[in-house]
Amino acid sequence: MAPVFRKQLLNDIEVDVVIIGAGYTGLWTAYYLSKLNLGLSIVIVEAEHVGFGGSGRNGGWCSAFLPMSPTEMAEQHGRDAMQFIQYEMFATIAEIARVTELERIDCDFHQGGTITSASSSAQISRVKDYVAQWRTAGFDETVIRWESADEIETRLRTRKTYGGMYSPHCAVIHPWKLVQGLARVLEARGIAIYEQSRVVSVKQHSVRTTRARVHARWVVHAVESFASQQRRTKRSIVPLYSLMVATEPISPHIWNEIGWSERETFADGRNMVTYAQRTADNRIAFGGRGAPYHLGSRISPKFDVNEQIHDRLRKTVRETFPALGDVKFTHQWGGPIGAPRDWHAFANVDHRTGLCSGGGYVGDGVALSNLIARTLVHQMVNIESPLTRSLLVNHHSRTWELEPIRWLGINGLLTLTEIADARERRSGAPASRIIAFRDRLLS
Ligand SMILES: Cc1cc2nc3c(=O)[nH]c(=O)nc-3n(C[C@H](O)[C@H](O)[C@H](O)COP(=O)(O)OP(=O)(O)OC[C@H]3O[C@@H](n4cnc5c(N)ncnc54)[C@H](O)[C@@H]3O)c2cc1C
Repeated sequence: MAPVFRKQLLNDIEVDVVIIGAGYTGLWTAYYLSKLNLGLSIVIVEAEHVGFGGSGRNGGWCSAFLPMSPTEMAEQHGRDAMQFIQYEMFATIAEIARVTELERIDCDFHQGGTITSASSSAQISRVKDYVAQWRTAGFDETVIRWESADEIETRLRTRKTYGGMYSPHCAVIHPWKLVQGLARVLEARGIAIYEQSRVVSVKQHSVRTTRARVHARWVVHAVESFASQQRRTKRSIVPLYSLMVATEPISPHIWNEIGWSERETFADGRNMVTYAQRTADNRIAFGGRGAPYHLGSRISPKFDVNEQIHDRLRKTVRETFPALGDVKFTHQWGGPIGAPRDWHAFANVDHRTGLCSGGGYVGDGVALSNLIARTLVHQMVNIESPLTRSLLVNHHSRTWELEPIRWLGINGLLTLTEIADARERRSGAPASRIIAFRDRLLS
């Protein structure tokens, strides 16, 4: 589906709220502000087109799990704050289901849960440790549990599973349909979205685009990885590339062999992040990290395709699902995700300057952007709610290292992760020492 281009901002305007970026964060923020019926004038200014960022091209995991682990959150903010935000995330999946149904946004939403399969003996202890971490954090078997190989195989059949983690708190969506549907709803509510209107400078109560200026009481920054391209926020976030492939629609007889009728999101327990979904039109969309970080946090469309990584992804899909036979791959793409130095999401509002920002999702922004947007809105209009005191509020991560240390460090971490996975494949034992070393470097 090609993007529909909307009008550019050509004249100076004055509004209550200007939102920079037409991805989920910007669109959800506009949605919840407008639903308050306070008569606020709201505009969105977008450098390219609606859904140009990760929001239009992600893996469709609408997941209640955060980039921060429960252990880290409890250590940093206390156990109650960690549990509060986690239950809010579980409720966020239901909130997205509610709004998409209410607003008739057909985005293939289906909540089938999520599986991380231990696909080698080396992965068993890591996946079990992950489940144990949640148990220690106070979440019972209804939230997350270890399932035996037989139980996982009743869900979907891969080349090999030794069992895995299952949680019901994840849905799948079609990213492009969700982002375009949200934009349509906003426009029907009278909110203008200007495309091809890149913001080139931000000041208190005003932003300048390439052609015009917007004066506003509130300026909401919702650009995720692209904040790394702006002087003021250059070291607040790094763009890490996540790449994906998709098969052609797969025939019913192959699906009979694979199963996967509940369309759970699927990952295997290797160290490098992988993520997959069975799409509503019966393809497998499969993604992974591991693409190199580019010096100076560069973002470019040419980095969206990396033949070596895309080939590796296609090979992984065929290895994971031998039943695919000669099913063809029809799509490959990628894009940057935004990683703050401490992997911690934020919803920051400054009442004095009117500057607000939300993001820091590290590849988990599909559902989290909805909670961040509501958290921003509650703060902006002073709604008395526990969201305004959550651990997402006014969090400022420390900045990333200067170059070339940043480049060396991030690519070094990626290399260590690959070495660990290769060693696990060869030896069948967890590469715990390499991973512990990697994690110490990152801390
Ligand atoms: C390949 C891939 C797979 C992913 N898979 C998943 C997944 O399965 N589950 C999950 O939860 N998350 C996933 N993510 C991450 C998720 O897509 C993002 O976290 C989320 O979409 C971020 O939304 P956003 O609105 O904050 O940012 P974006 O969607 O990046 O939107 C930011 C917008 O700001 C615009 N912009 C940038 N600079 C300017 C400027 N100067 N002026 C005006 N506009 C500007 C951009 O053009 C862009 O449209 C994935 C991401 C990628 C790339």
